[in-house]
Amino acid sequence: MIARNKAFANLTAGYLFPEITKRRKAYAASHRDKKIISLGIGNTTEPLTPHIAAALAGCARDLGTPEGYSGYGDEQGMAALREKIAQTLYPGLAASEEIFISDGAKCDIARLQLLFGPETSVAVQDPAYPVYVDGSVIAGAAGGAKPGQTGYEGITYMPCTRENGFFPDLSVVKPDSLIYFCSPNNPTGAVSTKAELQTLVDAARRRGCIIVFDAAYSAFIRDKALPKTIFEIEGARECAVEVNSFSKLAGFTGVRLGWSVVPKTLHFADGEPVCQDWNRVMTTLFNGASNIAQAGGLAALDVEGMRETRSLADYYLKNAAVVKKALEGDNFKRAGVTVFGGRNSPYLWARFPGQKSWNVFDCLLADCSIVTTPGSGFGPAGESYIRFSAFGHRADAEEAAGRLANFAPKSAPDN
Ligand SMILES: *Cc1c(COP(=O)(O)O)cnc(C)c1O
Repeated sequence: MIARNKAFANLTAGYLFPEITKRRKAYAASHRDKKIISLGIGNTTEPLTPHIAAALAGCARDLGTPEGYSGYGDEQGMAALREKIAQTLYPGLAASEEIFISDGAKCDIARLQLLFGPETSVAVQDPAYPVYVDGSVIAGAAGGAKPGQTGYEGITYMPCTRENGFFPDLSVVKPDSLIYFCSPNNPTGAVSTKAELQTLVDAARRRGCIIVFDAAYSAFIRDKALPKTIFEIEGARECAVEVNSFSKLAGFTGVRLGWSVVPKTLHFADGEPVCQDWNRVMTTLFNGASNIAQAGGLAALDVEGMRETRSLADYYLKNAAVVKKALEGDNFKRAGVTVFGGRNSPYLWARFPGQKSWNVFDCLLADCSIVTTPGSGFGPAGESYIRFSAFGHRADAEEAAGRLANFAPKSAPDN
């Protein structure tokens, strides 16, 4: 029989979301009268906006006509869309040939791992979006699980805690590593400042590292002083690639459209340009994003589309404010709960001192019929935290806030 890829045996079970579903189902089965509200989703809930939806429909209609039909397009994406992204989102920071259109940021993160061999060291923020670690393990880059501990041998975890303002100590990063970094962050909701990202870029350059910068939530940044792309930082074109997506920007989680930026000025140790190999990966293993989705992406970046996507993000930011206000109520203050994020980001990250994330999850489900995401599921430094998502309908956010106002969080000695 053919042998199993050893990397898969190294992978520890994906536990977080199946376990949430299991506990939610068990609760629902014994509380049929209760309406469960989910503040646990990392998925968009509001409909596509009219101008963008019309562009998607228009392209689909045109494809049904002899004049409007097209087959395979350029694997790197429609020239017009690459140009539009470069002009509107990276003016003076990246050229259209450095933009590669894809079916989403998660898929790009997985494909990027092909550029670096299994010997590459990997550093991630802890807590983190699971694909950075799991994708690295599948690519063979991370070794096995640490015996008797959480995490993998070959991965350097950079704790992001309230003590360090959710910006990690970079001195732990090994030379020549791949560094995954996400801002605005999922799950902590933290947004790194220019000065912080300058520290990251400087550290990466000093140590010969490449940063994979995940900017999937950049559309939620409202504070003008905060950087929306790593390429606002001096020196980033020599040490970083960026992945981004229309998923959270325009509600394209189901439509599927993303992009990566790989500057021509980024090189491997042997002097070869990274974008050359990336172009090879994208043209060989990927066959281009859907032409319909790309037509929608173009519409999302014109004046009308930008107005719509801004109000879409504002809608979710308002949900975040509604839930945040409830989490800052006296009942939570008495238990020492502190809430982070939710400004310039659709996630709230609440710390329940002295409690285990899963215990808080169970209490919120039992007492409020609210589903959340236990912070410990995103990495060891997420213990005692709960992630509250702003993705949802306003009426549900308001009802959840009302229930939270009557919740009595347990008080425990901090540790
Ligand atoms: C949602 C999300 C993405 C987007 O992934 P797509 O594949 O483009 O839908 C990327 N990174 C993070 C951290 C996310 O939460």
